[in-house]
Amino acid sequence: MRGMADLLEKCGVAAVHGHAEAANLVYLALYALQHRGQEAAGIVASDGGELRRAAGRGLVAEVFTPERLAGLPGALAIGHNRYATAGGAGLENVQPLLMQTKRGPLALAHNGNLVNAVSLRRSLEQEGAVFHSSSDTEVILQLAARSARPDLAGSLVEALSLVRGAYCLVVAERECVIAARDPYGFRPLSLGRLPGGEPVVASESCAFDLLGAQFERDVAPGELIVFGPGREERSSFPLPKAAPAPCIFEYVYFARPDSQVFGRPVSAVRRGLGEQLALEQPAEADLVVPVPDSGVPAAIGFARAAGLPFDFGLTRNHYVGRTFIEPAQAIRHFGVKVKLNPVRELIAGRRIVLVDDSLVRGTTMAKIVQLVRQAGAREVHVRISCPPTLSPCFYGIDTPTEEELIAARMSVPEIRMTIGADSLGYLSLQGMHRAVRVSVGDFCSACFTGDYPLAVTDRAALSEERRRR
Ligand code: AMP
Repeated sequence: MRGMADLLEKCGVAAVHGHAEAANLVYLALYALQHRGQEAAGIVASDGGELRRAAGRGLVAEVFTPERLAGLPGALAIGHNRYATAGGAGLENVQPLLMQTKRGPLALAHNGNLVNAVSLRRSLEQEGAVFHSSSDTEVILQLAARSARPDLAGSLVEALSLVRGAYCLVVAERECVIAARDPYGFRPLSLGRLPGGEPVVASESCAFDLLGAQFERDVAPGELIVFGPGREERSSFPLPKAAPAPCIFEYVYFARPDSQVFGRPVSAVRRGLGEQLALEQPAEADLVVPVPDSGVPAAIGFARAAGLPFDFGLTRNHYVGRTFIEPAQAIRHFGVKVKLNPVRELIAGRRIVLVDDSLVRGTTMAKIVQLVRQAGAREVHVRISCPPTLSPCFYGIDTPTEEELIAARMSVPEIRMTIGADSLGYLSLQGMHRAVRVSVGDFCSACFTGDYPLAVTDRAALSEERRRR
């Protein structure tokens, strides 16, 4: 089977209902959610009669021109940003997916990762279903399209009662938009209001600021909200309840710091992680330097709690994509140098604490430590504002398989040697939860514990997929 899992992770979704400029507003929301996916973007809009789609590979600003947006008339629209991965990057996989069903056209965009889509797809194919993409999101569409239920919401619920995994969905038909979040609430999804009271849904609240919309609340785990027809709005909880397990890694790394996610401002949580890290893993040093951009809030927290000066000892070139996204190892090593450059006069002769949000493969940090030493640092102490990443995520964060996760293969002293640091300190699991102000178990921290709140039915197939990348 072609690239199933690799297409569906770490994305951003947005929807607007009841506004004459729906597609334009969704475009802006996608712009604000660009950090959640840089490989492709798409919008589907409805004018009440027809659903039209514009989508392509690249950044939001590259995919949409004024002409393309003008070709998306109508008062409702949904949109999607896709995270970059290798393979399976064909246009047929760019979301929102759009399908003709017996109830009319249906479009869907998905953030998250299903854990039983491979099995479901196999059985659907055996029954004669023809898939148009290699994306697991199409399983939801196919199931909804087959449902005998007369209404869109009913057929979607029937589909969702069969799929397992992480999903935040925005769905469109001619007159309605549906927003849905899985019962575990793995990924974030927020509801806001435009100045005229029209609803807007987005993966993160930072999208609302750009639209002049007010953040209203999170879409709750297991909640399904139907917007339309007209100004109608219905919320329901049609699926069996689960113990919510929002993703703690959204706080550590993924969400934008200016967003409010799972009830708390991300920036404040990140600074708290840095403060806790300074208490647990102090360092004798002269200067705290963040690895920009992701390490900045934690480094500010660290410096504050440690009583150490803080400065931007590494300058980031903002016109380079995230190094993590580069598919080939060779390019990634090179990429660090392209992306980060030390500020020599801040670093030379000093004992530096380098703060970053996480170590995944460890390759980036090894390179950064080398750069900082070359710039004349006397000592380099690395501090990481989360625990060691031990297990892959199957719920929508793109982590490599265990074999590639440095902390799954090595002890902390071995990692310290490999990255060439004078000392290395991670935040503890308890410390991370204390900083987030939740108890262990309230959030999904499977990447740090290997304790998966929802059984990963297709684990072998999903792991194989990652190995092939
Ligand atoms: P590496 O250890 O070389 O694999 O890269 C780790 C860096 O990538 C960290 O500093 C994070 O800022 C960033 N990172 C962590 N997790 C992810 C992810 N799932 N996708 C993209 N970047 C990530």
